[in-house]
Amino acid sequence: MNQEEVLQIFKDAGAYLEGHFLLTSGRHSGQYVEKFQVLQYPELTEKLCAELAARFQGQNVQTVVGPATGGIILSQLVARRLGARALFAEREGGKMALRRGFQLAPGERVLVVEDIVTTGGSVEEVLMLLQESGAAVVGIGLLVDRSGGKAKFGVPTEALMKLDIPSYEPADCPLCKRGVPLTERGSRHLK
Ligand SMILES: [Zn+2]
Repeated sequence: MNQEEVLQIFKDAGAYLEGHFLLTSGRHSGQYVEKFQVLQYPELTEKLCAELAARFQGQNVQTVVGPATGGIILSQLVARRLGARALFAEREGGKMALRRGFQLAPGERVLVVEDIVTTGGSVEEVLMLLQESGAAVVGIGLLVDRSGGKAKFGVPTEALMKLDIPSYEPADCPLCKRGVPLTERGSRHLK
C-alpha cells in the first residue's frame, strides 16, 4: 500500500479534511486530520494495520505497544497479524506508564505503534518506558508522520503516510486573505 492509497482511505473516511481550520493552538490551517474518523471503521483500520504489520513481518515481534487512545486499537490489530501480544501505555500522574498488570520481560521484542506523530512526544515517552523495562524495541510503526521529518527516534520507523500540513498565524494566513470561511477544527462554522 503506498502513500496515495493510504491518503485515499483517510479521505474516504472523512479523516482528512480540506478547507480552513482554526486549530486549538489558535493557528489556521488548510487541512485537518481527525484520526478517529478512520479508526471508527474496523475494516479500514484493519487494512492499515495489516500494512503496518507487513512492514515488520519476520522480525519476531513478541509484543506490540501503543500509547492510548489510538494506539490501543492499532496495537490489537497489528498484534493479531503478527501473532503477538497487544499492550497499551497510558498516562498516570502525567507520566506514560504500563498499568493494568501489563509486564514486559527483559529482551522482549516490542514494536511500538501510533496513529499520528506530530512532535513525537508520546512515542518518545513510550520508548523511554520500554528502555526502563529492558525490552528490545524492534521499531516504530506509524499511520501518519506529520512531523516534517523532525520526529526521529533512533530505531527503524515506518510511516504509512507522511503529511506536511502548514499552519499559519491568523495575520499571515493565505486562506483568510482569500476569504475562505473559517471552521473550528473541522466541526462547527464560526462565521
Ligand atoms: Zn486563516
